[in-house]
Amino acid sequence: MTDENKTPDKFTIINELARRRGFFWQSYEIYGGVSGFVTYGFLGFKLKQSIEKKLRQLFVNKFGILEIESPIIAPSKVFEASGHVGHFKEPMVECLKCKRRFRADHLLQEFAEISPSEAEKLSLEEVETAIDEHKIRCPECEGTFGEPKYFLTMFKTTIGPYSEAVGYGRPEAAQGIFVEFRRLYEMVREKLPFGVMQIGHALRNEISPRQGLIRLREFTIIDLEFFFNPEESNCFPLKDVENETLPLVLAEKKLRGLEEIVEVTVKKALEKGYIKAEWQAVFMLLAKKLLVALGVPAEKQRFIEKLPWEKAHYALQSFDQEVYVERWGWVEVSGHAYRTDYDLKSHMQFSGVDMRVFKEHEKPVERMQTAVKPLMTKLGPAFKKKAAKVAEMLSEADPGEVEAHFKKNGYYTLEEYKVLPEHVEITRQKVKERGKRFIPHVVEPSFGSDRLVYVALEYAYRVKDGRAILSFPRDIAPIQAGVYPLVSKDGLPEKALQVYKTLIDEGFTVEYDEAGSIGRRYARADEIGVPLGITVDYETLKDNTVTIRDRDSWRQVRSQIKNLPELLHKYFRWKADFKDLGKPFEV
Ligand code: AMP
Repeated sequence: MTDENKTPDKFTIINELARRRGFFWQSYEIYGGVSGFVTYGFLGFKLKQSIEKKLRQLFVNKFGILEIESPIIAPSKVFEASGHVGHFKEPMVECLKCKRRFRADHLLQEFAEISPSEAEKLSLEEVETAIDEHKIRCPECEGTFGEPKYFLTMFKTTIGPYSEAVGYGRPEAAQGIFVEFRRLYEMVREKLPFGVMQIGHALRNEISPRQGLIRLREFTIIDLEFFFNPEESNCFPLKDVENETLPLVLAEKKLRGLEEIVEVTVKKALEKGYIKAEWQAVFMLLAKKLLVALGVPAEKQRFIEKLPWEKAHYALQSFDQEVYVERWGWVEVSGHAYRTDYDLKSHMQFSGVDMRVFKEHEKPVERMQTAVKPLMTKLGPAFKKKAAKVAEMLSEADPGEVEAHFKKNGYYTLEEYKVLPEHVEITRQKVKERGKRFIPHVVEPSFGSDRLVYVALEYAYRVKDGRAILSFPRDIAPIQAGVYPLVSKDGLPEKALQVYKTLIDEGFTVEYDEAGSIGRRYARADEIGVPLGITVDYETLKDNTVTIRDRDSWRQVRSQIKNLPELLHKYFRWKADFKDLGKPFEV
């Protein structure tokens, strides 16, 4: 069989359909197109919106999570503090002949069958050796590669006309939340736990994106930062989901070369320590439910734990939620990281602003406080002119640490000064502690909207009688119903337009179509996933009834126009099935 005769895979089919019907396409086409950028047409935009709405319904609104919107550009300090300037880089090689550049770890995965995890672990020298050993050549021109280098995948810019005012495009929306923590905490009246979410564009200057919606340079990220006190068990939704199961691939198994899925309840995953934070386990379960609601069955999902060298620099523990897709295999759709107090702590150090919260004890707690009092009569002769400086440094030192050093070494060093026990007086007194200051911990579910759009499309796609249908779950379909006059004459279009307007006024997303035969119009609607087709025919003029057609079964029922709004509201909220919409109607 020649290549042209081969059935295209779903990735190709979906991209072709998406382009032809206007879900999305590559941006800047009139200038030849630029990889890694897409423009969503009306249908894709609506689909993305309904996916995000589903996520809000499933947990954001229920947990009172706040949504905010912060800038895309941030001064370099923000990403120095977050660690991205130091860590957000990928290994890259350049072809010495055609000068094209590629992500080295992706080449190793594609041409040397080195697993993503193994490829990620390699140092630049090891990458170079592996490329040589596997004789990997440029996929474009067969040329050889130069030395691998790291490429910082953040977009760099300047803020205003000053070249020294460096800024970066955000690679995640999370930092926009962390830097505002103090204000947000005040807004929730200083109570933990609480969550803040941001849906917005993120920029990652990917080296060679060739995977459509899966790898973009500008994409929509959904970052949810959930702040909690790690010493308190306050995960209120846990009891509702603890007996539901999660498909986990654990790091300890991966280390032994096994990628087997263990299906465990949330409760067991926490008891066994597979998942370290309760909130993280809950969000993972909700992420699974979200994907099911988008049409991806549970058995096509897994949560794979990241190995130490695969984890982002801020994560204590991380799982990727992956969905199986035909062309690319397992693809990450969301990341679940236990970020601990990493980000708030770094911003506290870099900005000097206190990010700690105060938690009052139920009853004041008595505790012994140790203090180190510098004795000037002893420091003076020992350090002469520097005595005042040493005294100041001593008063800022941690008394526990000073005491421990005295015990262990017999002295304590402050810069170049060696302080002896006789230079200070160590005092102890009982103090009443009203509460405690600490930096909250954070778990973060982070979704990519564009990947969710892609998997929703791939899982909705089917073929019936040689025709393509997008069988989206009814509540994420970009258009809910089509209204059609059976023929474009005899007053049927006028009547159909009345029905169309009624449904628009009721808040439904409806299309009106009178072009071509009714069969062609149904087929066009099926291909973009419109769940219901409402047809006005000659009967309508007599008794004000219409037919309603189901996209998936192609069955029809007949109903009164006046009942449509209520029936459709119930149907799209899953409170009625198709058969409840009217009397069976044989065509
Ligand atoms: P990460 O911070 O890398 O875990 O990314 C969070 C989520 O954003 C991932 O789970 C993906 O769904 C999505 N994502 C990451 N990188 C890209 C990209 N280049 N293009 C599209 N989506 C992405």
